Amino acid sequence: MKKFQVVIIGGGPAGAAAALYFKEANVTVALVDKAIFPRDKSCGDGIPLKTFRLLEELGFKEEELFKGGFRISGMSVYAPDGTPAHFGKASVDSATKSGCIPRKYFDNLLFQKAKHKADAVFEGYKLERMTKITSGWLLKLKDIKQGKITEIETELLIGADGAGSFTARKSGLFPVDERHSFEGLRLYYAGKTFRNRVEIFYDKRILPGYVWVFPVAENRANVGIMAPRRNSRKNKTGLRQVFDTVLQTNPDVKEALSGAEPDSSVRGAMLPLGNAPGKRTADHLILIGDAAAFINPLTGGGIYFALQSAKAAARIGAKALQKGRCTEDDLSEYERWYKDVLSPGFYYADWFKRRFASDQFTNRFIKSASRFKPAATFFMMIYGRPLPKRVFWNPLFWIKIFLR
Ligand SMILES: Cc1cc2nc3c(=O)[nH]c(=O)nc-3n(C[C@H](O)[C@H](O)[C@H](O)COP(=O)(O)OP(=O)(O)OC[C@H]3O[C@@H](n4cnc5c(N)ncnc54)[C@H](O)[C@@H]3O)c2cc1C
Repeated sequence: MKKFQVVIIGGGPAGAAAALYFKEANVTVALVDKAIFPRDKSCGDGIPLKTFRLLEELGFKEEELFKGGFRISGMSVYAPDGTPAHFGKASVDSATKSGCIPRKYFDNLLFQKAKHKADAVFEGYKLERMTKITSGWLLKLKDIKQGKITEIETELLIGADGAGSFTARKSGLFPVDERHSFEGLRLYYAGKTFRNRVEIFYDKRILPGYVWVFPVAENRANVGIMAPRRNSRKNKTGLRQVFDTVLQTNPDVKEALSGAEPDSSVRGAMLPLGNAPGKRTADHLILIGDAAAFINPLTGGGIYFALQSAKAAARIGAKALQKGRCTEDDLSEYERWYKDVLSPGFYYADWFKRRFASDQFTNRFIKSASRFKPAATFFMMIYGRPLPKRVFWNPLFWIKIFLR
C-alpha cells in the first residue's frame, strides 16, 4: 500500500494551495479530488487583491490569472432603498481593486500546478472511507469512472473537501450547521458591455444576503444571490424563486442587467460561515478552506481564507511531521492561529451581518458610507479584510479610518 506523509482531500483553491505549500516544505504529498479538472464551482468568481498576493507567492503571474478573467477597479453597493455608494481606488481604498475570474479557469490553473508538483494525484477519485490507525489514517478511494478501490495511508490528512466536507463529518469535528450557513446560486449573463466594477444589491427580501453582478469579461457577468439558509425555511420559498423575483423586480438589478441575457444554467452551493462553532484539528487531521467553514459571514468570500488556511496548515503540519508527531496537541497551533488571525475578522463581520438583517440599518449605513469618507473606509475594511483582534480598541485604527 502506498504511504504519503500528507494526503489532501480536495483539489479546489484550498487543497491545491496546500499541496504547493507542503511541497515547498519537502513533504511527500498525494492530492485527491473526485472531479476531473477543469471543473466548475458555484461562486461569484470575485478574487480580492489580497488573494493575488498569496497567489504570487505561489508562483502565479498576474497575466496568466487574468487571461481567463477581468480586472475590476471599483465597487458599487446599493441599499435596499436604492441609495448607491461607490467605492474605488481613487476615492477610498485600493483594497477594493480586485478581479473576477471564472472558477472553471481559476481552479484549473491552481490544480494543474499542484498536480505537477505533488508526488501522486488521484483525479476522479472520491474519498469513501477514512479509518483511524495508530500512525495516521487509512483512506479508501473510489475511482469514479471505473469503480475501482485504491487504499492509501497518511500521517497527516488535510480535509480540503469544501462545504459539507466528508472529512469534517467523518472525523466528528464539524457537523453541517444550518444556523451558520448561507446558500447561494449563480449563473452567467452576456450580451452587453459591463462596467469594470463589482455591483452588490442589498434587497429587503433577502437581507442580510445580497444579489451581485460581477463582470468576468467585458461582455459577460457572474450574477448570483446569497442568503441565510434559514430564510428559505422561514418563508417557505426556495432561493431560486426569490432570486427570480429579485431579478425581475429590483430596479437597480434590472438596470444593471438591461440588455443582457442569461448565458448558462443556474448552479448552487452552500456557504459554511466563518463563525461556526467547532474544532478544525484532530489527531493527524487538519481542516482548511470551506471544510473548516472559513467564509466571511458578511460577504460570503472564502477563496482568500482557503489559501491563507492552506499556508498555515502547511507551516504547522510540516513542523509536526518533522518532529514525527501529529497528535491533536501537536497541531494545536493551528487552532490558535484560527482564533488569533481569522476568528476576530469573522466575529466583526458576523456582528455586521446581524445588523444588516434590518433594512433600516442597511439603508442608513450605506447612505452614510456614500457621503462620509471615513464611514466608507470603515465599511470597506469590514467588508474586504480580516480585521485583527481588538482592532476597535486601537486608536491607530481610527486615525487610519479618519485620515485616509
Ligand atoms: C454562490 C457562491 C458564491 C461565492 N462567491 C465567492 C466570491 O465571489 N469570492 C470568494 O472569495 N468566495 C466566494 N464563495 C466561496 C468560495 O466558493 C469558497 O470559499 C471556495 O470555493 C473554498 O475553496 P475550497 O478549496 O475550500 O473548496 P472547494 O472549492 O469547494 O473545493 C473542494 C473540492 O473537494 C472535492 N471533494 C469534495 N468531496 C470530496 C471527496 N469525498 N473526495 C474527493 N474530493 C472531494 C470537490 O470536488 C472540490 O473540487 C462563494 C460560494 C458560493 C456557494
